[in-house]
Parts: sequence; structure tokens; C-alpha cells
Amino acid sequence: MPLQRFHIRTSSRREIVDITGEVQQAVSQSGCEEGLACVTAPHCTCTVYVNENETGLIADTLELIGKLTAGTSWRHDRIDDNADAHLAAAVMGNSICLPVSGGQVELGTWQRIMLVELDGPRDRRVTVTVVSG
Ligand code: ZN
Repeated sequence: MPLQRFHIRTSSRREIVDITGEVQQAVSQSGCEEGLACVTAPHCTCTVYVNENETGLIADTLELIGKLTAGTSWRHDRIDDNADAHLAAAVMGNSICLPVSGGQVELGTWQRIMLVELDGPRDRRVTVTVVSG
């Protein structure tokens, strides 16, 4: 199946979760040996990115998001008080495309696939679309 899905239950308003294992499993289940995998968080206040899973860097990333979106007069806050989450998600983008080689996503030594919760805790869906090539 080219489209795989899995769910992540987050536990904080802002949180970064390593989903590399789940993505690798989805790619394995797709049966693709060589191609591309598109990993998407189909949400407006949640996103995915690739970087190192290091405690200090994760704290730095969350601090940067906080500084980037700090403010008390975002217009969207009149609706559901989460403009900061929407803005951070928009800046970070909501999908990544990665090469698949040997049936696995090819990552650099320190690269991990990370989900960023920006308005949790919530149940989040992640889709992995795999295209053989
Ligand atoms: Zn909103």
C-alpha cells in the first residue's frame, strides 16, 4: 500500500516526538525498496521536520518557536486562542520528502524524523506516502 498512517498521542501543549521508528515501519510495510517517502502531519497546529534528537537541541527548538510566535495580539486568538501554534506550523511546513533505499528511509547519521506538537495534548495522525521509483 502506498499510503500508510499511524497515530501519535502527545502529552504537552508543545512537544517534540521522535517518530523515526514509526515512519521506518510504515515504509517497510509499503514494500517499497527504492523511491521516495512523503511524511505529512495533516493538521494546522502540528508539523514534522528532520534533525537531531538531542535534549538540548529539542529544548532550543521549542524555545525558538516560543520566541518566534510570542505576542498577545494575534487576530486568530479571537477564535480559539492558538494563533501561535498555527503560525509556527506554517513557518515550519507540514511535510517532508525523504529518499527510500534498501526498503528504509535514508537518513544521515544524526538525523531523526520529528513530530512537533504545537497545540496539544492531542491525538495526531501522520501519513506516509511512499512512491517507488
Ligand atoms: Zn486555531
